[in-house]
Amino acid sequence: MKSVLEVRGLYAGIDGREILRGVDLVVRQGEIHALMGPNGTGKSTLANVLMGHPSYQVTQGEILFDGVNLVELQADERARLGLFLAFQYPVAIPGLSVANFLRAAVNSRRRAQDPDDKGIPVPEFRRILKEKMDLLQMPHEFAGRYLNDGFSGGEKKRAEILQLATLEPKIAVLDETDSGLDIDALRIVAHGVNTLANEALGVLVITHYQRILNYVKPHRVHIMLAGRIVEAGGAELAEHLEEHGYDWLRDRAAEQVAEA
Ligand code: ADP
Ligand code: MG
Repeated sequence: MKSVLEVRGLYAGIDGREILRGVDLVVRQGEIHALMGPNGTGKSTLANVLMGHPSYQVTQGEILFDGVNLVELQADERARLGLFLAFQYPVAIPGLSVANFLRAAVNSRRRAQDPDDKGIPVPEFRRILKEKMDLLQMPHEFAGRYLNDGFSGGEKKRAEILQLATLEPKIAVLDETDSGLDIDALRIVAHGVNTLANEALGVLVITHYQRILNYVKPHRVHIMLAGRIVEAGGAELAEHLEEHGYDWLRDRAAEQVAEA
């Protein structure tokens, strides 16, 4: 059975300010979706709300993961169900190595499934981590570095992708920032998604620019405008945006408001 993340009529905001105004979206395991839209339209808000960021309030609608409503669950509970969010701005933790961080994350999930679990044996974990680093063409020394401490933008993305590879979530949300990744970081993320995307992983790539979609081919593209998904289509929709920008959607939305 394929896992499915279903967002239905979602309204959410922060400090009493409404940002999401009726989002509908379905992402299944094994599918790559792109969420695009102008700056300030609510894309990062959706990512945060999906993962359960405590600053945001859901006022209406549902987020279902295999039929379970996530809205009342904490971020760690959502993660244990198989949801993953790559941070836009990952936090540095000097003193904690990438390997120890990932092992702790893997163990936390194992313990959630079996409270008596003694943790993954270190040799087994090392073997898995090496396998994932080889898959992603990462130097093994990377695992020994302190998490995000002094990392370049590209290395931070690498750490996020390695986390994705190691935790093996069912659905991953990658927020690719409005400021735009440098081209190295972009290639790392794209290569990671292409390498890891398979029948067992669904991905929602959030992006302002169409650039990353030169490297990752989405099955479906959704466009968000003012807190709502106003258009969806195949990969060709991203190409149309590249050529025509977002103005035609804004014009159409304004016409619809005028007609209403
Ligand atoms: P996007 O990712 O599409 O650029 P965001 O979700 O970051 O859009 O922002 C949508 C709107 O919500 C913007 O107007 C932004 O200023 C506002 N917003 C987002 N996060 C916060 C926050 N933590 N506090 C106040 N306003 C916020
Ligand atoms: Mg954003």
